[in-house]
Amino acid sequence: MDDTSMGSAAPLAVQALGRAGQGLPRPERTRIMVVANQKGGVGKTTTTVNIAASLALHGARVLVIDLDPQGNASTALGIDHHAEVPSIYDVLVDSKPLSDVVQPVLDVEGLFCAPATIDLAGAEIELVSLVARESRLQRAIRAYEQPLDYILIDCPPSLGLLTVNAMVAGAEVLIPIQCEYYALEGLGQLLRNVDLVRGHLNPDLHVSTILLTMYDGRTRLASQVAEEVRNHFGDEVLRTSIPRSVRISEAPSYGQTVLTYDPGSSGALSYLEAAREIAFRGVGMHYDAQHAHTGTQQYQHSQHSMSEGNQ
Ligand code: ATP
Ligand code: MG
Repeated sequence: MDDTSMGSAAPLAVQALGRAGQGLPRPERTRIMVVANQKGGVGKTTTTVNIAASLALHGARVLVIDLDPQGNASTALGIDHHAEVPSIYDVLVDSKPLSDVVQPVLDVEGLFCAPATIDLAGAEIELVSLVARESRLQRAIRAYEQPLDYILIDCPPSLGLLTVNAMVAGAEVLIPIQCEYYALEGLGQLLRNVDLVRGHLNPDLHVSTILLTMYDGRTRLASQVAEEVRNHFGDEVLRTSIPRSVRISEAPSYGQTVLTYDPGSSGALSYLEAAREIAFRGVGMHYDAQHAHTGTQQYQHSQHSMSEGNQ
């Protein structure tokens, strides 16, 4: 990549897919997706920012909430998040309105970010003694008045109070799974946490989406893991998986998503495709990826995703 000013090229990627103006179905209500997996480095942040950018490039209004003290989502979106910047910490701990911390993402119209600063590392402890400690994010989101189609929450690699706040605020859990050894290890614990939060704090919560990331089709291991995940989760698994791609891993160091950094790359196209699947599933339709590149997309009503509803 010899040019980092590729922002204006991103809509071309959407066009390249032959879908300009075609748009995506908009959810009736804001869909709040919690991107979680307590395992580190599986692609939570990468998935959050690239799905969010893909949806925004298709015309949706999307807010990314960075709920990880590492602030990787803020970095990837080119959002300033040094210690003095008003951040999600102020929202959670000091009840600052969300609108006071949300910043627009340059280059991608309709995309916004509530950044995380290093302060957030202390929030896990500070929240313990606060009233309604599990539902502070939910309350902030409910009070946010700007219209949004999607909110994507990037969780830290743990199942503490920050992740619980996300699970109370959202209805959908999106689990990225890296196609590597031990991919499924620890997932039981994550699913039990989802059940606990559903049982006690948020009856709407469910795992709506599994995304296979860093897929390397040349290895038998990747296809074995993918098969195991599909057998285990069935319809929740998106048909699109995200390939291992150097472009995807380079983009954050330029403060960009892969959609603006290299719109024609396989990584960008696969995230656009995954975002389309998510959008269609949200309105109860299944997107037939096999026909995606032929211009003869077929959408089938799916009872499964209809019954999941959307929020
Ligand atoms: P953490 O648990 O630390 O928050 P994470 O689950 O958010 O990590 P990411 O930060 O998204 O994971 O990804 C981990 C690393 O893998 C990053 O360096 C990222 O750039 C790289 N990566 C993610 N997806 C891909 C991909 N499809 N191809 C190549 N590299 C990738
Ligand atoms: Mg992360």
